[in-house]
Amino acid sequence: MADRTDDAMGEVSAGYQPAVPLAVAPLFERPPRLLGALRFFAWKQFWPGGATWIAAAWLAWHYLTPELASMASFRPGWIAAIWLRNAVLLSLLAGGLHWLLYRRRAQGHESKFTDRWPGDAARFTFGNQNLDNAFWSVASGVTVSTLFEVVGWWLLANGHTPMRTFAEDWAYLSVLCLGVFAWGNVHFYLTHRLLHVRGLYEVAHSLHHRNLNTGPWSGLAMHPIEHLLYLSGPVLLWVVPGHPVLHLTLLFFRMLAPALTHAGFERVRLGSRASFLAGDYFHHLHHRYFECNYGNTLVPLDKPFGTLHDGTPEAHVAMQARRRASGR
Ligand SMILES: [Zn+2]
Ligand SMILES: [Zn+2]
Repeated sequence: MADRTDDAMGEVSAGYQPAVPLAVAPLFERPPRLLGALRFFAWKQFWPGGATWIAAAWLAWHYLTPELASMASFRPGWIAAIWLRNAVLLSLLAGGLHWLLYRRRAQGHESKFTDRWPGDAARFTFGNQNLDNAFWSVASGVTVSTLFEVVGWWLLANGHTPMRTFAEDWAYLSVLCLGVFAWGNVHFYLTHRLLHVRGLYEVAHSLHHRNLNTGPWSGLAMHPIEHLLYLSGPVLLWVVPGHPVLHLTLLFFRMLAPALTHAGFERVRLGSRASFLAGDYFHHLHHRYFECNYGNTLVPLDKPFGTLHDGTPEAHVAMQARRRASGR
């Protein structure tokens, strides 16, 4: 039973399901509960996820990024160093999670969203899901992310984008930090909706959706066209005055977080006592059913647009009715 694979079966089977209905920020309630939405957003976004990306960005800016002055002109040396840093960070996170959860199977099926394991299938590049996912993530994902990062540094180094410092503008930068995450979520919803438009879906986004049963490497396994859209969020900071740590926070939020949200397990156990939240069941339902949950629970734009699936049987019936009405 444990060795059956979704890919061999060509379908997804149910496994662990968190408590439903899945909680979403009460942003689009009537009347709107703005304070509640802000509290939900602040808590779920920043602990521990957002705080981790901010800490990683701070470390990377101080220890793993060339001097800003040296990035005033495009040179292969520093660009290659940034590509390598990004490839190593993604490989450590996605590769580490894959090794723990899928090679060692350290926690078995505990909190795994499906009861089957990913496997080989002809639809994947190289006929293997993991190789396919790692290839597209590094060859295209890391490269496109590096491209956006490099242009951001060049703009800052040449003064084309004004820079603020935490010493002088901490209040402004703190609010901007909140805005950066909110923007990241809205941008994800908008670009994701666009990628499901007929034509663009077949050419680009279908590559990501080959993954019915996702793993850590699936998160950034996308077509280069999708990478150009999905990873373009940091362009916001090309025009809005910010700080290098915020640039990297937004870049890492885009590039690294999907390894966690696609891990396929809600919680990753480290030994018998420690664990942390990883997989996103809300997005798992999107991979399972395609036509729901284009965004996330933090800025739940699926609600006003009528595509929210909160995991309940009622939401499932409503989704099926929507499908019938649209002739699918
Ligand atoms: Zn996905
Ligand atoms: Zn999609």
